[in-house]
Amino acid sequence: MAEKDITMDKVVSLSKRRGFVFQSSEIYGGLSSAWDYGPMGVELKNRIQRFWWKEMTQLHDNIVGLDAAIMMHPRVWEASGHVENFHDPMVDCKNCKNRFRADHIDLDAPCPNCGKKGEFTEPREFNLMFKTHMGPVHSEDSIVYLRPETAQGIYVNYKNVVQTSRVKVPFGIAQVGKAFRNEIVTKNFIFRTCEFEQMEMQYFVKPGDDEETFNIWKEKRMAYYKRLGIDTAKLRFHQHGPGELAHYAKDAYDIEYLFPFGWKELEGIHNRTDFDLRRHSEFSRKDLAYLDEETKERFLPSIIETSAGLTRSVLMVLCDAYDEEEVSEGDVRTVLRFHPEVAPITVGVFPLVKKDGLAELAKDIETGLREDYATFYDQSGAIGRRYRRQDEIGTPFCITVDYQTKEDNTVTLRFRDSMEQVRVKVDEVSLVIRKAIKDYTRV
Ligand code: ATP
Repeated sequence: MAEKDITMDKVVSLSKRRGFVFQSSEIYGGLSSAWDYGPMGVELKNRIQRFWWKEMTQLHDNIVGLDAAIMMHPRVWEASGHVENFHDPMVDCKNCKNRFRADHIDLDAPCPNCGKKGEFTEPREFNLMFKTHMGPVHSEDSIVYLRPETAQGIYVNYKNVVQTSRVKVPFGIAQVGKAFRNEIVTKNFIFRTCEFEQMEMQYFVKPGDDEETFNIWKEKRMAYYKRLGIDTAKLRFHQHGPGELAHYAKDAYDIEYLFPFGWKELEGIHNRTDFDLRRHSEFSRKDLAYLDEETKERFLPSIIETSAGLTRSVLMVLCDAYDEEEVSEGDVRTVLRFHPEVAPITVGVFPLVKKDGLAELAKDIETGLREDYATFYDQSGAIGRRYRRQDEIGTPFCITVDYQTKEDNTVTLRFRDSMEQVRVKVDEVSLVIRKAIKDYTRV
């Protein structure tokens, strides 16, 4: 695919126009950094989540799922180190009062917002956790936090999982869910928001096996993005230097993607050692050691974490799929080249014209495909315009019913990426699509 001028403006505008992402509370002027997923966006997000879930659970025999509550006992966040460590140094511009992460701007340069120079406050620590109160009394004892990461729900349940399922070290627990961080610098659309979703997997290994396992997961996670059809030239690793490592990490790599606004983190792969389980053992005074039934050894497992942003993945997939293709002189089509497994709609079905029974025939075919595919029926406008509408939301396959259908029971199957059209028997079209999805490789 030729390199195109893909700007955030284009991605944001298409997202709004075609029902992927809306500004939260838009009729009230919007809530900064909060976004809602529209009819196409929720399908895309759910499918990316399913793609990840299948990859991490179904395709492994030793990884199980979990769905823990967002609110947890406040001691969890003391044990995890978030109460103490989870903050960014912030500075305020004394002139315009805008707040910035001290490590994101050059403090000697003019304010990125108002342009005034030398007007920043001293950096101050800022805890990123949202705090609220549970129950009727607002006191120190009623404080609860909205979880800033999903991981802790897995750690505190790890013994429950060991006792109730048949997993043995090494094994993993996967979870997808909301996380909340009071981010001060939220920009770039859904890239960094205060409320977001994570897809995390915690892999429990014998101490000493952590480094090798870490390397394996690092490679597996990169391979996942390639399978999702992401442009490999826009993916890279970034290893955290000593100053960048989170308080729990022994080693960490980010998988980064080249967004229109530069290389940014998509996912973190962390060697968290036994830090979390050790701390939870101390704070809860519960024995969290794992007993190896064969060797009778007892140990606290080390943990390798793969932590990907789901909402951030939605943005990445949108940016990566976005293409403008000159179909003929002066005729440019906008097309989202999604992997067919994550496209919000898999098959569009159209009658060439409404009359002469073609609409009914097309509707029947569409209904027949619903059990297996996300379908969309459209009978309005010129056929070329209907194709273009589907291109814009990334529908990989379109079926057109025409007069020939009535004669020989065949339809036209059009492929989004190549725009190739082939004639297929009605009773074979589902299989042809199934095969095309399985054989999909990015053009
Ligand atoms: P950053 O340095 O960008 O703040 P982080 O290193 O703190 O991110 P992690 O704690 O490793 O991020 O979180 C794992 C993943 O969760 C990130 O790779 C990202 O995809 C996602 N994520 C983290 N914070 C946000 C956010 N505010 N909005 C959207 N996604 C986020």
